[in-house]
Amino acid sequence: MERLQKVLAHAGVASRRHCEELIVQGKVQVNGNVVRELGTRVNPQSDQIVVNGRRIQLEQHVHLLLYKPTGVITSVTDPQGRRVVTDLLKGIKERVYPVGRLDYDTSGLLLLTNDGELANKLAHPSYEIDKVYRAWVKGIPTPEKVKKLATGIRLEDGMTSPGEARLLKADVKAGKTLIELTIHEGRNRQVRRMCEAIGHPVITLERIRLGFLTLEGLSSGQFRPLTTTEVELLR
Ligand code: URA
Repeated sequence: MERLQKVLAHAGVASRRHCEELIVQGKVQVNGNVVRELGTRVNPQSDQIVVNGRRIQLEQHVHLLLYKPTGVITSVTDPQGRRVVTDLLKGIKERVYPVGRLDYDTSGLLLLTNDGELANKLAHPSYEIDKVYRAWVKGIPTPEKVKKLATGIRLEDGMTSPGEARLLKADVKAGKTLIELTIHEGRNRQVRRMCEAIGHPVITLERIRLGFLTLEGLSSGQFRPLTTTEVELLR
């Protein structure tokens, strides 16, 4: 059950403040009865809500976890007609938007939703969710350099905040190393710039975890809805 003014605002009727005015003015009906009480709680899925004589269409919230392949743009449209992440969401009728972004060349875990409130919360810098990446980088970084990735690197837009970094395996023959990096920020091309800054540019990059969410059970290009429990835990 949610507060009526919140439900109306989510449905795009007007701002929360204006929705409160509409309620007080007696312009809102719930299941055929005028409701003027601001604290009224409604079930957005089952209650019939009418504003100024018009039934409110409530879009169901959808939360999807996509295993983004490389070669796809994190956007809902592309003026140049390139493939965008929403092209992969076969069977999803709701208009969902990506939460944050992964580069064209980055693969991995991407959330998409039409739940604006949760999307804003997840994207806010104060929401310190772990973003875990695996990157093959050129060369073999020294332990000192790997440590620097964790403690902080000076980029042109400032120091990166502390995270974690570890070397998983080195392929000496191919001259490349697999590292795992946990960060809490989401600056543009951040991991690529951090690796570049220590002199080991990224060859491939994948986000493997976001908080408690992983890619388990999905192949590249596949998606699944989040469970109700997962959505609750993210809130
Ligand atoms: N960091 C990057 O450099 N690219 C991404 O896509 C995500 C994080």
